[in-house]
Amino acid sequence: MHSYPDSWYVASSPMLAEQPPASGDLAYDVCIVGGGYTGLSCALHLAKSGKSVVVLEAERVGWGASGRNGGHVGIGQRADQYSLEKWYGKPTAKELWRLGLEAVDLVSDLVKENGIDCELGKTNIHLAAKRSHVDELRDEVDHLRTEYNYDQVSGVESSSLEELTSGVGFHYGVVDRGARHLHPLKYCLGLAEAVMTMGAYVFEKSRVKSIDIKADRTTVSTDKAVIKAQKVVLACNGYLGNLFPPIASNIMPINNFIVATEPLDEATANRVNPMNASLSDSLFVINYWKLSEDRRLIFGGGETYSDKFPESITDFVRPKLLAIYPELKDARLDYGWGGTLAITRNRMPDLGVHQGMVYYAQGFSGHGVPTATMAGKLIAAAIDAGNDDFDLMSGLKTLKFPGGPLLRRPSLVAGMLFYSLRDRLGK
Ligand SMILES: Cc1cc2nc3c(=O)[nH]c(=O)nc-3n(C[C@H](O)[C@H](O)[C@H](O)COP(=O)(O)OP(=O)(O)OC[C@H]3O[C@@H](n4cnc5c(N)ncnc54)[C@H](O)[C@@H]3O)c2cc1C
Repeated sequence: MHSYPDSWYVASSPMLAEQPPASGDLAYDVCIVGGGYTGLSCALHLAKSGKSVVVLEAERVGWGASGRNGGHVGIGQRADQYSLEKWYGKPTAKELWRLGLEAVDLVSDLVKENGIDCELGKTNIHLAAKRSHVDELRDEVDHLRTEYNYDQVSGVESSSLEELTSGVGFHYGVVDRGARHLHPLKYCLGLAEAVMTMGAYVFEKSRVKSIDIKADRTTVSTDKAVIKAQKVVLACNGYLGNLFPPIASNIMPINNFIVATEPLDEATANRVNPMNASLSDSLFVINYWKLSEDRRLIFGGGETYSDKFPESITDFVRPKLLAIYPELKDARLDYGWGGTLAITRNRMPDLGVHQGMVYYAQGFSGHGVPTATMAGKLIAAAIDAGNDDFDLMSGLKTLKFPGGPLLRRPSLVAGMLFYSLRDRLGK
């Protein structure tokens, strides 16, 4: 029994042997809570620099968003460069852009260095779902090419969109050849294997119940173990719950959903996605999709803001898929699954250190494949010897969600529903 929720990713990944739970009195330089990209990347980089490291995962590695996401590895940050320039000034915006590009390279490098077989592919296509979004996307292409010397990106006018996809209802396309895409669970399990090969410990079914901070040492407790560590890293993202209240209201957990069709015949797959890219649209509640190695369409769309998932995820996502690809009306949906991610108010990640002892990174806002991997590396570097890029990211001000962890949902739900309604009604 593998104890992951059902998904096409679980069905198509070679599973790792389950690691034992932590037990007894243990001591390490660094104790990492959470076995997704943030925690595993951090563990890998710390182990490389000779630290003794343990990863404690409540379920299985890759059980959270890192094993369930769309697999898009986008460039830049989740917030666009215009917004970053306005909020932080041009020099900082340029540093954040550089870090975003380095994050994509980091993913590719980790895949290569560790021989991770995770279907790494190239190119993202972002499509204007409304005529009113075209000018903004056109401007962004120009801005990236002229201000950031980024020549991997180009715009495609509506008359040529069939070269990108047979999907309907689009008005403009942005092709980004610098972006990557991959099989998220295979990538995550590959990172976990690399972590263990480097000599770090991974304990599964080891839910952390409490963290006690003292001046020189921190104590982390699970049901069966008490772990002393000089530093603790919180890498729980959307699954943090109330484990560490000082950072809980910096983020809001939301749920997002994906379906996988049956394998498509070659001609249909070539019409839907002739460049074998990852694709997404410009709606506030974004739709995103790509093909699997066996030509299934992996299509994500739809969010919920409560702690419940829809009763039938395939029924929930199907209308969004068919609105873009009516030609798939008879395609069977073999899998439907959901996951929980964390967003911040301005969609920039929330990195920091609490009392010099507890490092954290969270709130990747749907852009975590590259940025969570990078955040793990930055925390490792900061623990090791201090790091300018960690200081850059942790220096970005994170606004708390009003109402704190308990009451933050109603105001978020009202805001999110307003914007998704505007998407449905607007031009
Ligand atoms: C449906 C969906 C689609 C997405 N699509 C994309 C995409 O295409 N591209 C992209 O860039 N991003 C995407 N994201 C976001 C991306 O998946 C996340 O930002 C990223 O995986 C976060 O990694 P993480 O390691 O920080 O958190 P997670 O992968 O969520 O890992 C956190 C881990 O912490 C563990 N944990 C929690 N509490 C405890 C505790 N008390 N003790 C021990 N362990 C604990 C959990 O069990 C979990 O395994 C998507 C997310 C979802 C849900």
